[in-house]
Amino acid sequence: MSTAARPLFAFDDTFVRQLEGLYLAWQGAPAPDPRFLVLNRALAGELGLDADALDTPEGAAILAGATVPEGATPVAQAYAGHQFGGYSPRLGDGRALLLGELVDPDGRRRDLHLKGSGRTPFARGGDGRAAVGPMLREYVVSEAMHALEIPTTRSLAVVATGEDVVRETMLPGAVLARVAASHLRVGTFQYAARLGDPELVRRLADYAIARHHPHAAGAENPYLAFFASVVRAQAELVARWMLVGFVHGVMNTDNVTISGETIDYGPCAFMDAYDPATVFSSIDQAGRYAFGNQPPIMQWNLARLAEALVPLIDADQQAAVAAATEVLRSFQAHYGQAWGRGMAAKLGFVQPSDDDELANDLLALMHRGRVDHTAAFRALADLLRGDDAPARALFADGDGFDAWAERWRASLAAQDRDPAQAAEEMDRVNPVYVPRNHLVEEALAAATAGDLGPFEALVAVLQRPFAVRPGLERYAEAGPEEPGYRTFCGT
Ligand code: AMP
Ligand code: MG
Repeated sequence: MSTAARPLFAFDDTFVRQLEGLYLAWQGAPAPDPRFLVLNRALAGELGLDADALDTPEGAAILAGATVPEGATPVAQAYAGHQFGGYSPRLGDGRALLLGELVDPDGRRRDLHLKGSGRTPFARGGDGRAAVGPMLREYVVSEAMHALEIPTTRSLAVVATGEDVVRETMLPGAVLARVAASHLRVGTFQYAARLGDPELVRRLADYAIARHHPHAAGAENPYLAFFASVVRAQAELVARWMLVGFVHGVMNTDNVTISGETIDYGPCAFMDAYDPATVFSSIDQAGRYAFGNQPPIMQWNLARLAEALVPLIDADQQAAVAAATEVLRSFQAHYGQAWGRGMAAKLGFVQPSDDDELANDLLALMHRGRVDHTAAFRALADLLRGDDAPARALFADGDGFDAWAERWRASLAAQDRDPAQAAEEMDRVNPVYVPRNHLVEEALAAATAGDLGPFEALVAVLQRPFAVRPGLERYAEAGPEEPGYRTFCGT
């Protein structure tokens, strides 16, 4: 019998072969003692990987970036980006590497990428490292988003490096192994466009079309159709965020994917009390990326993509700009439709209503009463089942709420909705468990101190966000109101 082990990964490398000029070949830094903090065995299985073979010292060294796996050509990807509105022509993976592409058993191609694997030529002043807490935060929140059926990058593993990193204090270092449809970003197009080689932008666009928006290839104007497809994907994505109270926190153009997946969980958080002005990021003092600003900011980011695509859309620049502008305007309609559909389902309707008045009046009540966003929609389903206690406990303004609830029931009746059935369907789209800030902080603090128990428990709860389970009451409760709650990115 042959003892030659099958390689852990069967990598492809279309990005490297087709997009020279958009990356630098690079390798990770050594790690003194790589150990798995968490390995997503289910995701490994989905990717066609052998989880047992991965769960070894060799697997940990590879996912820490310390060993280059057989058949891999790791690269640091180049990209530019508007960060908080200001343009940086050269960002790139300062502390990350694309290890390669995996084609899963269903034929889906996905990137395997490491974050925190050491300095690259794009590192600027950064140390190339990441601390355990922020990498576990990305793991738990991205996996929670996936369970909420929101398009997102996934987390395969977090590996402790055995080395401390210098932040405000010394913290244990770690590397996140991330899986994504790809790591093409709006910022990738901005970078290519600024290099002044129109053929490179075309190659990038052709690659992105083939990989993510293949129907655009057959359109009369493929590049315009491609732009329209990205606009639609991102409008639908942001609508999903808004429907669950997710604040991304750092919607720079380098953190906006071409695939339509949520990426880069830095200062992200779920809102407790409903307030469109909610901001968590310590560096977002102007509230640019506040909860309620997310749709217009996404549209602004997509305008930056349009600018990079103009030369491909039409040789006549004026005509290209006019066509791109019209497509950019479709963002609002796509967003409005996706939000309206989603909100109708959250309120138990089968048909989206012609206007958003009922939903907006509810949100206004929630805003005024600082009502917990996640709990409110579950309380409404309870109300339909005849239990008004949860709604009473949440909505202080009894009269305003009662009048609204009366209108809501009348609208459901007008659609011939059976209340019990509507309640059941609402519970399938309104999560009871989301990664609440106090739970995430508690889990990360314990993990940083060496106890992974609370983190593992939280990940397990969030895997089934719609199913109430006895004994998990504390995971459904709002945390203490913390007006000054802040999260940090890039750490
Ligand atoms: P992010 O906030 O994670 O989206 O990162 C924004 C940019 O800063 C990217 O170019 C990152 O690669 C870079 N970056 C963030 N943290 C570090 C670090 N510790 N070392 C090097 N580069 C970093
Ligand atoms: Mg980023």
